[in-house]
Amino acid sequence: MAANAPRSNFIRQIIDQDLANGKHQMVHTRFPPEPNGFLHIGHAKSIVLNFGIAQDYHGTCNLRFDDTNPLKEKVDYVNSIQADVKWLGYSWEGKPRYSSDYFDRLHGYAVELIEKGLAYCDFSSQETMRELRGTLKEPGKNSPYRDTAIEENLKIFADMTAGKYQEGEVCLRAKIDMSSPFMCMRDPVIYRVRFAHHHQTGDKWCVYPMYDFTHCISDAIEGITHSLCTLEFQDNRRLYDWVLDNISIDCHPQQIEFSRLNLQYTVMSKRKLHLLVEEGKVSGWDDPRMPTIAGMRRRGYTPASVREFCHRIGVTKMDNQVEMSMLEACIRDELNQDAPRAMAVLDPVRLVIENYPEEHEQQLNAPNHPNNEAMGTRQVPFAREILIEREDFREEANKKYKRLVLGKEVRLRNAYVIKAERVDKDAEGNITAIYCTYDPETLGTDPADGRKVKGVIHWVAAAHAVPCEFRLYDRLFQVPNPGAEEDFFSTLNPASLQIKHGFVEPSLAKAAPEKAYQFERIGYFCADSQDSHEGNLVFNQTVGLRDTWSDSEAAA
Ligand code: ATP
Ligand code: MG
Repeated sequence: MAANAPRSNFIRQIIDQDLANGKHQMVHTRFPPEPNGFLHIGHAKSIVLNFGIAQDYHGTCNLRFDDTNPLKEKVDYVNSIQADVKWLGYSWEGKPRYSSDYFDRLHGYAVELIEKGLAYCDFSSQETMRELRGTLKEPGKNSPYRDTAIEENLKIFADMTAGKYQEGEVCLRAKIDMSSPFMCMRDPVIYRVRFAHHHQTGDKWCVYPMYDFTHCISDAIEGITHSLCTLEFQDNRRLYDWVLDNISIDCHPQQIEFSRLNLQYTVMSKRKLHLLVEEGKVSGWDDPRMPTIAGMRRRGYTPASVREFCHRIGVTKMDNQVEMSMLEACIRDELNQDAPRAMAVLDPVRLVIENYPEEHEQQLNAPNHPNNEAMGTRQVPFAREILIEREDFREEANKKYKRLVLGKEVRLRNAYVIKAERVDKDAEGNITAIYCTYDPETLGTDPADGRKVKGVIHWVAAAHAVPCEFRLYDRLFQVPNPGAEEDFFSTLNPASLQIKHGFVEPSLAKAAPEKAYQFERIGYFCADSQDSHEGNLVFNQTVGLRDTWSDSEAAA
């Protein structure tokens, strides 16, 4: 695939300037996932941006687990995130980092703020705190604990840390401005009590720092130059800067916000993805219908196609919804060029070539790619009995139907021209066998007498065909923005997974998992990495041959 070079964007322009005017000599970014779920295509946008910038500017990018919420985080997610970033083709600087690596220093900075009279312990109930916070229109009011003496605050914070207070009884707040137009500046909570076991620090702590306090300090500790995040943190940039301005740390990274990726017909909130998994609406985080990296990978997407998608959507400050067809175009473009061709029959009907000698068999040469000889050829067995797609035969049809019709001819892909002579039917009138004759002079050439045969259909030799389960996927949801629905489960597409039992040609018996093939005239498929085994093949549909979604939308 002729991958586009990443386009310049407003973030790269800022970096160009910073390097040109000497503000920085080197670029250092980070990707900071919270290990509370699997990564999804939205994270891919952030990964490609952060790691891509580090690559292109010969800088470095850290992988940092933003692990300040032990109740929701797990080592399983830590592991899946590392695997997904690697799969996308990136490597981080040194070891993975954890915000929890800095818990001692963060605690020290909290003490520093208390000592400077810039933080205080608040015993107000959650409800009181909410009331005093005010609204977007009304300024907040000071907490009665705001002017507690510094010594007293230091003692209470030490007692919090020693486990002498219950969860929710007291918290530490930054003392900023209760009348700020930015809600995040109205004395935000920076530490809270949580008697929770942490996946990295065990039972060492019973107080945990809040995200806004942790993130900026972690960035500064790591010497990050440009801290790229999504637009919902735009207001919080004030707090990011306030914290770094008020503690003893030299580095002050620049936070820059960009718009998050929203993709139609799916959800990207980890909370909602969790629900889909927990409620069994999908088979797991790596269900091929999920917008997760693991799901897309299992479905046959390649790292290059995901990176290409991220380049095509670009990076701006404008919020929008990207069409699913844009993602599909990336994988389709790649596989059209790179995927070997093969034949599979999803809904088989028996076809007997009556003038082909019984007991006879041939190995026919079939090109692996119609436009790329370098991809070589493979052998496909041919015999008197083959299987074709049920929908590729009709007893009668008009001229538009370029497949097999009773009394007419069609070409078998990579083989001969055949003519349908008669059919067998069962008691219900279903066709059970089609009887044909073949023209032995037409292997690889047109009929010598000049008669035209327009249609081509695919097939597999019955005796050699390998049974296979096909999993066909459609959109997981029926509406473009399911996340906006009150009950998003009610918009699930009941037909998002369709299973068929058919056959593939024998060359696919040992197909490697996740490697996509083009099943001629059907679509792109890959062997399932969990459920497919030799002797029990399962193929996932990666994407169709054409963009049928945009087609049907245009028709509607
Ligand atoms: P959620 O709010 O659903 O839990 P999150 O954004 O908090 O998701 P994180 O694990 O904190 O998830 O995200 C790690 C990084 O990926 C952050 O820098 C975040 O801004 C970025 N990111 C997450 N979702 C998207 C998205 N849809 N588009 C672009 N970047 C995203
Ligand atoms: Mg987050």
